[in-house]
Amino acid sequence: MTDFPYRNAALPVDERVADLLWRLTLEEKAGQLTQFFYLSVGELPDDFDLESVPEEQRVYAEQPKMVEAAAAGGGTGSVLFAKDAATTNRLQRLAVEQSRHGIPLLFGFDVIHGLRTVFPVPIALAASWCERTIEQTQAAAAREARAVGIHWTFAPMVDVARDPRWGRVLEGAGEDPFLGAAVAAAQVRGFQGDLGPDRILSGPKHLVGYGAARGGRDYDDVDISDSELWNVYLPPFRAAIEAGARNVMSAYMDFNGVPASANRELLTDTLRGELGFDGFVVSDASAVRSLETQHFAKDLTDAAARAVSAGLDMEMCMFDPAFSRLPQAVAEGKVSEEAIDQAVRRVLTAKFELGLFENPYADEDAAAPTLDAVERRELAKTAAERSMVLLKNEGGLLPLATDALQAVAVIGQLADSKRDTLGPWVFDHRTEETVTVLEALRDRLDDGVRIKHAPGAGIPRRVFPSMFDRMDPTVVDTAADHDDDTEIDRAVQLAASADVAVVVVGQRQNQIGENASTATLELSGRQLEQLQRITETGTPVVLVVMSGRPLDLRWADEHVPAIVQAWYPGTRGGAAVASILLGDASPAGRLPFSWPRHVGQLPLIYSHYRTFQPENQAARYFEEESTPLYPFGHGLSYATFEYSNVRLDRPVVGLGDTAMVSVDVRNTSDRDADEVVQLYIHQRYGSSSRPIRELKGFERVTIAEGETRTVSFELGPDHLRYWSAATKGYVQDETTLDIWVGGSSVAELTTVLEVTTS
Ligand code: BGC
Repeated sequence: MTDFPYRNAALPVDERVADLLWRLTLEEKAGQLTQFFYLSVGELPDDFDLESVPEEQRVYAEQPKMVEAAAAGGGTGSVLFAKDAATTNRLQRLAVEQSRHGIPLLFGFDVIHGLRTVFPVPIALAASWCERTIEQTQAAAAREARAVGIHWTFAPMVDVARDPRWGRVLEGAGEDPFLGAAVAAAQVRGFQGDLGPDRILSGPKHLVGYGAARGGRDYDDVDISDSELWNVYLPPFRAAIEAGARNVMSAYMDFNGVPASANRELLTDTLRGELGFDGFVVSDASAVRSLETQHFAKDLTDAAARAVSAGLDMEMCMFDPAFSRLPQAVAEGKVSEEAIDQAVRRVLTAKFELGLFENPYADEDAAAPTLDAVERRELAKTAAERSMVLLKNEGGLLPLATDALQAVAVIGQLADSKRDTLGPWVFDHRTEETVTVLEALRDRLDDGVRIKHAPGAGIPRRVFPSMFDRMDPTVVDTAADHDDDTEIDRAVQLAASADVAVVVVGQRQNQIGENASTATLELSGRQLEQLQRITETGTPVVLVVMSGRPLDLRWADEHVPAIVQAWYPGTRGGAAVASILLGDASPAGRLPFSWPRHVGQLPLIYSHYRTFQPENQAARYFEEESTPLYPFGHGLSYATFEYSNVRLDRPVVGLGDTAMVSVDVRNTSDRDADEVVQLYIHQRYGSSSRPIRELKGFERVTIAEGETRTVSFELGPDHLRYWSAATKGYVQDETTLDIWVGGSSVAELTTVLEVTTS
């Protein structure tokens, strides 16, 4: 075996793949296309009595043994959810030393916003509008992952999400395809880069339109027009693929009446034909088996055959893979062996590209020091500071004038909850390393300032527990035995006796994420009532919102002077909140979505179309304004900026040519700060109607006090091209463009560009 060509690292990858493929039986090929969850909750003692486990859970207890047997027998090519070096190495040894060809396993994991170092959740990273920060954090996450033997992340989630009732809105980059594309590409560059020894494969997901779930209900069906598909939902996938993503995950739901995981038009014609993808496609968890329950496939053999024929390469599953029936499907003439070979080639190519045949194992001694290194914790703090959005700051309450402070009341369960500060999708955090808002304020303020905490109103549990909670012993039910009346009274009294009240409200980390859609955006439990009573005491209130989606802040916006959107800020999240509140850092995050007033407005986007009778309010809601509470791109600063002199390098461009738009931005304050300069366009006429505004450029820049910076944007065919139903393809029109430049989507400084055919 040692001198077979596939073992020879000097040969080109395609030759090694061809040599290995030729040696595999059909069963072994099916094995390479199978990916198992590894549901290990730790080693079971040899004398473990399986009968003591409730019957429906027995299968989980036995699952790890089944995966181990598959690894040793060539029955699986990949494993997900093994997260430490000892486990990945143990499983890898089974594959490398015991299976017939010694093909190493590919270890995948949901490294969504860090592994040991937890960075802010993805929607927060998007809110930084800082591609460099996003790239750095995901490169740091990749380094930790690779250190424990993880080769591949199921990230970034690049689903455009326009209805924040959907819980997975926090895993994406918000409502906008342009911002979404930039964030997607930055994440892929970070995770994957040159695929060196510190990087991992990146798999953008979920192809495509999963974020458009009807009513924001997770896993629900979608109905997307061609125009939306090409202009809204596909651009982030295109950007991720152009940035080099080697993997893509298919979505669960039907797309145009055919499940996305067996949809040839999506997986082959669009993904490979139009977007030029040449990596491998993995199904979402159990999505191939689900082809049967979705009333599409006749049985699991049919499901496997149709998925592979459509262009799906790997099945992610827990038990009994449908793909184990592929040999039978070939025998029955339901799928060609060539289609299977093609899929195996793609999977093996990834393994060779990663260098797994040469270096299959993690370095167990090096893993711990790598995970413990402090520089990534510092990056987590900076990233969190950059992601925070100052929604409101009346009378300059923030930053807090520390000289005058004697007593600060810190209110709210979320103010001192380590687990919630991290957000969902974390699997290897260290509770003791996580800094809460309360701890950070205590740490940061002088001894002279009294800081007292009252947890106040309880945040009720979800109606049904999150599927991840069962795997995470650090999730505790704080609502149990919580006497709201007493606790709220205490919180109000504490606030009354303080100079300022920092009130942290929001949602627990398990009230958002997968399978965590909501029907209301109201603050749960009695958080609003408590906020109202605290405000009545007359003590100035700083509201800190910990959430991954917009919540109903209408009352707060009217009555509370300062509001900071802190998201789930990660390992050093509390320290970042303290930096913002105390003015060590000036906030410059911007909303990656339109913040609604009320759940009934959803979906609500800034880039809507101008319709008949646009000014007729009767065509809108009769009891609520139809505008957002805070617009897309909104975010305040401790500095003040003045925009002027927007100009074009030419007033007219030909089709296919590029104009430069420039603007001067002056920092008129006495502190250095970041500003996110944004460019929007609107096309007045053309082959199709276009949205009233579309983001087409942005740059986060640091501007010193008193300094003026000129920021320039290109506006060329890549920005002006769009997919038109008139031609069923991309067009660029002869037209007139309105251009706006400023600090949010309601920017007013404007100019006009003519696009002509000559
Ligand atoms: C999710 C995916 C995730 C996978 C593995 C699925 O339920 O939809 O996004 O990568 O589980 O955890």
